[in-house]
Amino acid sequence: MKKLNISLFVIFFTIIFLLVFFIFSLFDFDDKKENVVVSDQISNQKNNSTIDIDSNFSYPKLSSVGGNYLSEIKDLHDSLKMENSNNELVSADEFHFLEPDTNINLKKIDDTPKLVIIIDDVSFKYQVRQIHKLNLPITMSFFPPDKRHPNTAKFAKKEKMYMVHFPLEAINFHHEEIDTLHVGDSFQKIKKRVDFILEQFPNLKFTNNHTGSKFTSNYRSMKNLITILQSKGVLFVDSVTTAKTVVPILAKELNFVYLRRDIFIDNELKVNKILKQLKKAIKLAKKRGYAIVIGHPHKATLKALSQIKPYLTGIKLVYINELYDSLK
Ligand SMILES: [Zn+2]
Repeated sequence: MKKLNISLFVIFFTIIFLLVFFIFSLFDFDDKKENVVVSDQISNQKNNSTIDIDSNFSYPKLSSVGGNYLSEIKDLHDSLKMENSNNELVSADEFHFLEPDTNINLKKIDDTPKLVIIIDDVSFKYQVRQIHKLNLPITMSFFPPDKRHPNTAKFAKKEKMYMVHFPLEAINFHHEEIDTLHVGDSFQKIKKRVDFILEQFPNLKFTNNHTGSKFTSNYRSMKNLITILQSKGVLFVDSVTTAKTVVPILAKELNFVYLRRDIFIDNELKVNKILKQLKKAIKLAKKRGYAIVIGHPHKATLKALSQIKPYLTGIKLVYINELYDSLK
């Protein structure tokens, strides 16, 4: 009996030891931990994914575009669907590329066509590291820090140029960021949020919307936000997640340079499709003088970007501030 007790005791402690060892192995390295969290979010795609892939989203009429969408793209998709009163098919091409507004009140720009690549939704150190590895002037847009991605301001501090990815209300998005601003939020509430962001990112000069199809189409809400940002010297760059965005109207009214996303590059998470979008953007830049694209820190996007150099002949890849300085 005593022997049996000792055996059970040994087995019990061996199991406990193995369990503790397993748990510690998960928390071994900072980066590894982040990877575990993110890959879990990608694989089951049901919890509050901080990289915003929503597997539940499907729009059968556009099935050719692919099954998985990233936040802004899903948001644009939803708003187009809603705005399309006849419920007609929105062609994949329209969806990829809402025609950029060429009647922008821009001053003269210098001769070299410029391309700005913004990577949205940047949250973790390994993403920053992967983007650095590309060795390209890519403008990262960081989420404001919260418990899901607490170190974004720390990462931004080391960047020459960066943006803050401002979470704004979508028409229909279930994995909302913490402290997303909503239509109807008071001027004071919006100001408090901007103040928090500026405490975290004191050198901030540019911000763009994360989702925001509902918020950016609301005149009153956007006027409050942009007025506050303007008073702090921060320029709002429109991700254009809705065709009804009021930002161009406000740009005229409040007299600021309207910068907007021209092309989402990773509607389809395939390297060749992403390169195709980038080539489209380069073509636009050569025609108009500049183009602004948005992508996300997805593996396929980063891989496509690692292959972009041969296409950049006659094009200058620049950070958002360099483009702004050449336009104002
Ligand atoms: Zn986003």
